[in-house]
Amino acid sequence: MKILTVIGARPQFIKAATVSREIAKHNELQEIIVHTGQHYDANMSDIFFQQMQIPTPNYTLGVSGLSHGAMTGQMLEKIEDILLKEKPDWVLVYGDTNSTLSGALAASKLHIPIAHVEAGLRSFNMKMPEEQNRILTDRLSSLLLCPTSTAIDNLHKEGYENLSAKIVNVGDVMQDAAIFYEDLASIPLSIKSTDLNKPFVLATVHRAENTDDAYRLISIVNALNEINKICPVIVPLHPRTQTKIEKLDVCLEAEVIDPVGYLQIIYLLKKCQIVLTDSGGLQKEAFFFSKPCVTMREETEWVELISGGYNLLTGSDKKRILSGFSQMRNKVISDNNKLYGGGNAARYIVSELINY
Ligand code: UDP
Repeated sequence: MKILTVIGARPQFIKAATVSREIAKHNELQEIIVHTGQHYDANMSDIFFQQMQIPTPNYTLGVSGLSHGAMTGQMLEKIEDILLKEKPDWVLVYGDTNSTLSGALAASKLHIPIAHVEAGLRSFNMKMPEEQNRILTDRLSSLLLCPTSTAIDNLHKEGYENLSAKIVNVGDVMQDAAIFYEDLASIPLSIKSTDLNKPFVLATVHRAENTDDAYRLISIVNALNEINKICPVIVPLHPRTQTKIEKLDVCLEAEVIDPVGYLQIIYLLKKCQIVLTDSGGLQKEAFFFSKPCVTMREETEWVELISGGYNLLTGSDKKRILSGFSQMRNKVISDNNKLYGGGNAARYIVSELINY
């Protein structure tokens, strides 16, 4: 059986690492990896392939730095050519990026079945490119591999029981990754001034809804600057956010470093006191490593973390972020093996692909 995997962005490299390792255990399976090029920098792409031992992509499309429509269109065209040549039995896509949607669209037009990892997640904010991508990809997929029971409920509410797609709760592949790589965590050498043996805050910001709105971005920067006066803040800064901040009249007064590899982000997650983020992945990783989290967004797809009291939504408002930080900072997080399947997702995913 031939599985063609389409990936292109940092979170997808992490998710695919665990599933590709599982696919490789099966002699009857052949995986073809297509890297669209959406993320291409050494520290946003290459480092993940090296550290996580992801097989070298069979195809690299080099599509990046374009508007959403142009990027999705170019990927669609190039993936279609590859599908015509490779004739896979499955196209496997992850998450909610333009690479996910273009892989699904290309496959669907050629009647190749699609398996979607992280199906059923919803933010209910249709302005987010991620929400558009995940809803359309779900609708085109034959195998909906959901990470949580909430994701299953979302699909039922949308009437998916009346459609032919198979829906399964396999758990979250990000937990598989966190468990597998935990012992390999290593110190980020780029950190110069923060004592990692004392309490510090780990912060990331990269979502379009925050970076593309100057008012929101300035408010977040000001909040992080205030928090940095109380407790040192480390920010592995996404290139998109870096570019946007440079154009504004603000300065991020924290320990700002380039994005780090997965083994280094795990090190920081294990050592930090609290996570402040707008990342989907980091919200869960905070939980996996028993750290409280403040999410600087208006909504999240990972609602079970909010209802469980592990995570607090503050949006981008400075006052709300500061109060969220005070409220969550000393919170003790336990029971982190529940909610996300406990690290068996890759095994279930491969079994579903084989036995469909
Ligand atoms: N990450 C990393 N290095 C960094 C920042 C993040 O390895 O400097 C990892 C982290 O594990 C996170 C993942 O990248 O879960 C996903 O990245 P991102 O926040 O870009 O995407 P999202 O999860 O919001 O889709």
